[in-house]
Amino acid sequence: MTEVLDHWIAGATDAGESDRTGPVYDPALGVVSKHVRYGSAGDVDRAVAVAKAAFAEWGEASIAKRQQVLFGFREILNQRKDELAAILTSEHGKVLSDAAGEVARGLEVVEFACGMPHLAKGAFSQNVSTDVDVYSVKEPLGVVGIISPFNFPAMVPMWFFPIAIATGNTVVLKPSEKDPSVANWMAAALKEAGLPDGVFNVVHGDKEAVDALLVHPDVASISFVGSTPIAKYVYETATSHGKRVQALGGAKNHMLVLPDADLDLVADSAVNAGFGSAGERCMAISVVVAVEPVADELIEKIRDRMGKLVIGDGRKGCDMGPLITREHRDKVAGYLDVAATDGATVVVDGRDTDYDGAADGFWLGPTLIDQVPTSSSVYRDEIFGPVLSVVRVASYAEGVDLINAGPYGNGTAIFTNDGGAARRFQREAEVGMIGINVPIPVPVAYHSFGGYKASIFGDAKAYGPQGVEFFTREKAITSRWLDPSHGGINLGFPQNS
Ligand code: NAD
Repeated sequence: MTEVLDHWIAGATDAGESDRTGPVYDPALGVVSKHVRYGSAGDVDRAVAVAKAAFAEWGEASIAKRQQVLFGFREILNQRKDELAAILTSEHGKVLSDAAGEVARGLEVVEFACGMPHLAKGAFSQNVSTDVDVYSVKEPLGVVGIISPFNFPAMVPMWFFPIAIATGNTVVLKPSEKDPSVANWMAAALKEAGLPDGVFNVVHGDKEAVDALLVHPDVASISFVGSTPIAKYVYETATSHGKRVQALGGAKNHMLVLPDADLDLVADSAVNAGFGSAGERCMAISVVVAVEPVADELIEKIRDRMGKLVIGDGRKGCDMGPLITREHRDKVAGYLDVAATDGATVVVDGRDTDYDGAADGFWLGPTLIDQVPTSSSVYRDEIFGPVLSVVRVASYAEGVDLINAGPYGNGTAIFTNDGGAARRFQREAEVGMIGINVPIPVPVAYHSFGGYKASIFGDAKAYGPQGVEFFTREKAITSRWLDPSHGGINLGFPQNS
């Protein structure tokens, strides 16, 4: 019998009331490494009750106390990030250096949250009317729910919980059931850093646990990241139950290559952004839009680089690891048959790629497909694997129109040496995050992360200033201290004088 990963409630592991569990794989070995509990509505209810009770004190804790915990957590993460990265790689499959990069990007948000005393300061206006002052303060919401995807099991929760905790909220996290152990590691590290029990809780599971969070009367907000259909469902369900919701969805990111671009930089960037983490990134580049006549030369350069990539077990210093599950691997591979049927040219077929790993691992090598028709599902679907499509266009305008016609608007990039064209693209692309000669434009922690259109539901992006706004509500106080100039009864609407 393999290990069963428990929930984390009230500062300790907790088996919960449900008997349901699911398998957790080691994707490079293709074996079940452990099982994880699937929480019931009752388990969620208990975690929320614990978080609600903890809020009574944590919501009142001094700013200094909260800051100390965040600084402590930062120290632990820094000292033991390799340990966290190793757990991450063993369940997700991404190579160790990539897992360490993910932890580092999460750490950035922790560091941002360490500055919360400054970020969450209110405002003060003295003497707005005679002897009257107005000031505003930012207060926590209460118990907040976080639901995260498999592809960034450390970073995505860290987009939210450091800010939520630093602003005085208490948390129930429902991580992805595919790579859940990282969440328990972070929970234990928060405790070690001095976080009181009950402030950060983890309930593992699937739809049942998610649904319980979305409708729970004591959950004030939901921060969700995952695929677009689930993001939409989460947004609609939770808002109709009175919650504040930020729900980040899927993507299909294009890279527009103008004829004047440095094609070596473009080829490096396309390979890095297309195949890093086996393409399982919401900011991965999945379509190269080549403005002719560059396509043939660019494809040669990309193909040349792809041939040098080492695919294998992420613990062995390879460039690219396996996909998350066999089912997902087979689904992604299925698009190669679709591509051929739809008239595209499969330039490099990842099914033929050698790998350095166990025979049962969920392998699919980097794949390059040229002349992809925009009517094909290879172009339209978020494939979420190491599949890079090339679409050839005749002009900049045709490329921008293509990008803007898509349903998603997460990230995009332009490669050019023409500053005027780049500036025009920055304004004309209907996309939330833009890279100019930068393929994966994930903003730093003090700018917010989020897309447009079907890549986000709700008004607030993740982290940065919008994250602080999301996890606080503002109270405005109008105050007058007793003064002999009291003006007597006046039933009119208050006016300043
Ligand atoms: P997913 O939508 O399958 O799962 C996300 C979360 O929702 C998980 O915790 C899962 O348990 C839960 N869930 C799954 N099905 C559910 C259902 N029917 N009802 C309620 N909850 C359900 O996503 P995933 O496969 O884990 O992650 C990949 C997706 O996430 C991709 O679409 C990717 O683009 C997206 N993503 C987006 C961003 C972003 O910032 N926009 C970042 C990372 C990942």
